[in-house]
Amino acid sequence: MLDSKTQEELKQKLLEEKKRIEENISKTETGKKGTDREYETSFPEIERDQEENADEMEMYESNLAVDESMKKELEKIDAALLRMEKGTYGKCSNCQQEIPVERLRAYPQADTCLGCQK
Ligand SMILES: [Zn+2]
Repeated sequence: MLDSKTQEELKQKLLEEKKRIEENISKTETGKKGTDREYETSFPEIERDQEENADEMEMYESNLAVDESMKKELEKIDAALLRMEKGTYGKCSNCQQEIPVERLRAYPQADTCLGCQK
């Protein structure tokens, strides 16, 4: 079993990753609409990125694919956080073996062990 300290550490990682992905997704979606500038300016980090908006529009097509994979990643993170609440986090959803903590550290949203990933 994971000790609570390790789980807490992994939870923080998941939350950080979730935040990072959500920011990336909202940025892409804002570019899509081409509006909401006032909304953007309330966030200093995004304001800095406005100069890159022209480039972002060109990247719109490839962003769609990135968006999709980011959303899938987000679902995995949410699922992992839910498993933490339920107390089933860290177990392989396929073979029920515990996932090695090294793997969880590298990829906290993992829900299968390496053997079952393939
Ligand atoms: Zn497994």
